[in-house]
Amino acid sequence: MHELSIAMQLVEQIVAIAEENRWPRVDEVELEAGALRQVIPEMMQMAFAEATDQTLAQGALLSIRDIPAKARCNQCTLEFEPEPDNFLCPECRVADVEVLEGNQIILKTVSCEAES
Ligand SMILES: [Zn+2]
Repeated sequence: MHELSIAMQLVEQIVAIAEENRWPRVDEVELEAGALRQVIPEMMQMAFAEATDQTLAQGALLSIRDIPAKARCNQCTLEFEPEPDNFLCPECRVADVEVLEGNQIILKTVSCEAES
């Protein structure tokens, strides 16, 4: 399950942020997950719980926001929403595209209630 390796990397960043801010714990984490990464929210929640176990972020609330994929055709410059397994431009029928969005998993916010 690739969610676990993603979660482990995220937790490293989250813990680093918490330590930098001298937070005793992390209460909330917000993620943006690009559609092309095909993150399954339930799997991500499980992986997150496992990865945060025994860390400052243990028990933190995770919310995941889906970001639709966006690609631009290099031939006709049409922008469209590709499927994870189909990058063909609907106009030209070639897969000569640049992925603009949907390829990343971004740590959007990390917060500690005690601080706000
Ligand atoms: Zn095209």
